[in-house]
Amino acid sequence: MNIILLGPPGAGKGTQAQKLVEDRNMIQLSTGDMLRAARTSGTEMGNKVAAVMDAGNLVTDEIVIGLIREQLEAGGDHGGFIFDGFPRTLPQADALGDLLTEMGQSLDCAIELQVNDEILVERILGRAADAVAAGGTARADDNEESLKTRLMAYYKQTSPLIGYYYAKGMLNSVDGLGSMEAVQSEIATVLDA
Ligand code: AMP
Repeated sequence: MNIILLGPPGAGKGTQAQKLVEDRNMIQLSTGDMLRAARTSGTEMGNKVAAVMDAGNLVTDEIVIGLIREQLEAGGDHGGFIFDGFPRTLPQADALGDLLTEMGQSLDCAIELQVNDEILVERILGRAADAVAAGGTARADDNEESLKTRLMAYYKQTSPLIGYYYAKGMLNSVDGLGSMEAVQSEIATVLDA
């Protein structure tokens, strides 16, 4: 089963993806994590995307499609892929469909985590404050300025994907505002249907 988790930054995509990895032996493919790893290891691509990410803008389709292609080609035995933070643009969505078709696979559904914007902003700024309180450092893009840019990028570039997957008959929306367990159980209901 291959699924997409859709939703604005802070909607809980990463948290829910991790639960699916634990419970269903699925593989989480987070382009955000891949890009952060590229930055940490200081690859040429990582250095190139750093400023774009910190500002809260999207990196190019070419880069993220390349990252996803590499992961899909790695293969292995598992319960399917969870696309987390990808696709974020219509060209990325088309590319994902093509990549899966090339591999003789397909997408089963897109799950939209619905949240309210104000709660979202509180969550993200809370995530930054928690990281600092725990003695760590907040993600460089978890600040108010880049958050505004990330939200705008979501509404301008990513939210059209909701209509895109609806038209393909693949969209399922869940209430992303409940407890972690409540959201998890709504997702389970969709996947087991
Ligand atoms: P995330 O961890 O998913 O919030 O991603 C962090 C940042 O990485 C985003 O704000 C973008 O700068 C970049 N990014 C992650 N995934 C994508 C994607 N699919 N397309 C373009 N940029 C991305």
